[in-house]
Amino acid sequence: MDIQYVDTYELTRAGQEVHGQAPIDLFERLVEDLPDQESTSVSWTIRGEMDSYGQRFLHVHVKAGPMLECQRCLKPFEWLVDSHNRLQVVNSEADLEVDDALVADPDEAIERILGSQRLDVLALVEDEIILNLPYVPKHDVCVSLSEPLEEESGSDSVRPSPFAVLGQLKKD
Ligand SMILES: [Zn+2]
Repeated sequence: MDIQYVDTYELTRAGQEVHGQAPIDLFERLVEDLPDQESTSVSWTIRGEMDSYGQRFLHVHVKAGPMLECQRCLKPFEWLVDSHNRLQVVNSEADLEVDDALVADPDEAIERILGSQRLDVLALVEDEIILNLPYVPKHDVCVSLSEPLEEESGSDSVRPSPFAVLGQLKKD
């Protein structure tokens, strides 16, 4: 199955669901301004819906873990995205321009996308992730540089301690 494109008309009419996943490096627009990424995957589910008025919607669920740079300590950290969004599918450019000021309750304002027989799923998913990035990424609590190395033993990237190196030298 081609996961890159979906037909929004078919998806909403039939109430179908598509899901997929892709390596985060594939999302070039997302990662271009971010630090080096871990080899994580982005996964998504897109479900079509048509209500009793004939309005079409896409329910988009995206999970990702992009690496961001903390603006306080400048170290990378993983930002977990687990986003649910509902988009209204409209039939024309003009329908995209509906004035949200006319909507009584601002919370009722809904994002709209243009219906397409070839909706670019990766671009849609990428937009959702970008919308869920913090404006100023920061650790909740920055990891202090003075913490002992033992604290990092869970990480694969821990450098060998000087004592381990010493042990190898002795063997020779
Ligand atoms: Zn930090």
